[in-house]
Amino acid sequence: MAAIAPLSLLRNCAASTARTFVSVKPACIVSSTTLFPLPHLSRRLQFHARATNNEEAAARAAAVNADSGAPTIFDKIIAKEIPSSIVYEDEKVLAFRDINPEAPVHVLIIPKFRDGLTQLGKAEARHGEILGQLLYAAKMVAEKEGILDGFRVVINNGPEACQSVYHLHLHVLGGRQMKWPPG
Ligand code: AMP
Repeated sequence: MAAIAPLSLLRNCAASTARTFVSVKPACIVSSTTLFPLPHLSRRLQFHARATNNEEAAARAAAVNADSGAPTIFDKIIAKEIPSSIVYEDEKVLAFRDINPEAPVHVLIIPKFRDGLTQLGKAEARHGEILGQLLYAAKMVAEKEGILDGFRVVINNGPEACQSVYHLHLHVLGGRQMKWPPG
């Protein structure tokens, strides 16, 4: 008889099957080839497994066009074609609140000119200045938001890190006790 998969296994199973099982709900047990619903798992665990599955599937889908040079949702935000809650802005950098916050403070910081920086992994020596400006902007945002005593800066790079928008961005997170290690 199959046993309930621990969360770590659920994560792995979601990662390895995200493309073919994006609609599998709720959480699952793992056999060698497939996933089965586990309706008796706690709602929290089911939610976590579903969210993990969706994020990973979305990240893999986004990665397909990563190097196409196509505009992203962030270009629309920079152009003010869609609304955003701007926290900080200067000539080179824009910081705005994440639409799906993972903490009381969750701000994204982006270069206004992408210049090939779809992700940190594409950085070249010539990007050194803007990378420094982004990091300094993270400190300024943390100060402005009153979270200098504890904040985290995250860059998700590529599908295995669940990057979903291919315009380099720093997540600045804070306003609650952060946990370690991150998921
Ligand atoms: P990542 O998964 O690291 O690529 O992060 C992309 C982030 O962009 C996610 O946290 C999304 O919630 C956020 N996001 C996507 N669309 C918007 C939007 N229109 N306004 C603000 N944040 C957004």
